[in-house]
Amino acid sequence: MVVGSANVDLVVDVPRHPAGGETILGGNLRRTPGGKGANQAVAAARAGGAGTTFVGALGRDESADLLLASLEGAGVRTETVDRVDAPTGTALITVSPDGENAIVVAPGANSRVRVGAAQARRVAAADVVLAQLEIPLGTVTAAAVERRQGALFVLNAAPSRELPDALWREVDVLVVNEHEAADLAGAAGTPEDLAAALLARVPAVVVTLGAEGSLVVRRDTDPVRVPAARVDAVDTTGAGDTYCGVLAAALARLGLAGLADAARLAGAAAALAVTRPGAQDAVPDAAEVAALAE
Ligand code: ATP
Repeated sequence: MVVGSANVDLVVDVPRHPAGGETILGGNLRRTPGGKGANQAVAAARAGGAGTTFVGALGRDESADLLLASLEGAGVRTETVDRVDAPTGTALITVSPDGENAIVVAPGANSRVRVGAAQARRVAAADVVLAQLEIPLGTVTAAAVERRQGALFVLNAAPSRELPDALWREVDVLVVNEHEAADLAGAAGTPEDLAAALLARVPAVVVTLGAEGSLVVRRDTDPVRVPAARVDAVDTTGAGDTYCGVLAAALARLGLAGLADAARLAGAAAALAVTRPGAQDAVPDAAEVAALAE
């Protein structure tokens, strides 16, 4: 079960990012399905091979149709997606020649994602609940609280926000990149230092390290560094989302004891995703992931 945002990404290549008050000419407009929640749901279903349901909110516009087609095309169940009287979330993205992104998100319908009765019933049936922070924090906490005894709650704490205690208490696995880890730990340090600090609050932490792979830390076992496959990266958009979706899907099969193995599969899927353009469009299938992870 993935609870989160869905956005249409409007992407333009630019010679450089415009300064305040400036207008510049860019390349052709690309309109692609994105949003952390929807990206992670697509990754869980397609690359992770898990039966996946998405809880989110979309408007009643063409962008919603694009997102539903992408989710359903990957095999994600969407009956718990609300249609609301607000525009579907939209991300305005400019990409400079060095690959740097500048992004503005208009959340629109994402600020209306909620766990109502229908969503709560589906959450209670899930083995793993995965959420991020592009939707209201109260919804994220409600989803965690509604999970059944023994189900895992995985929180990808992105984008960085301060978390209420009621949410910290629910987290079984925290997934963060180095910047988010430093923000949440309120300190600087090596990934190992940051993960150790965060273990005071949650039982397991995964720190993603870009081309360096990831670090898996649990209270009762030694830290594990999972190296990334060497690939020619063409577009890193959605690498973190592919990683989170596949990690959660693998945890549904392996349980918390299999966290390091889940991280290996997640890293393989994310490495394949960075070799292709787009976010949801770049997610590999489960057979490709298994072949690279061997
Ligand atoms: P983004 O915001 O770009 O989606 P992120 O900051 O959330 O990414 P990263 O740590 O950059 O997350 O990437 C997530 C995972 O993707 C990494 O742990 C790694 O396994 C994989 N990955 C990212 N970049 C590369 C790369 N260049 N080569 C191989 N694997 C990569």
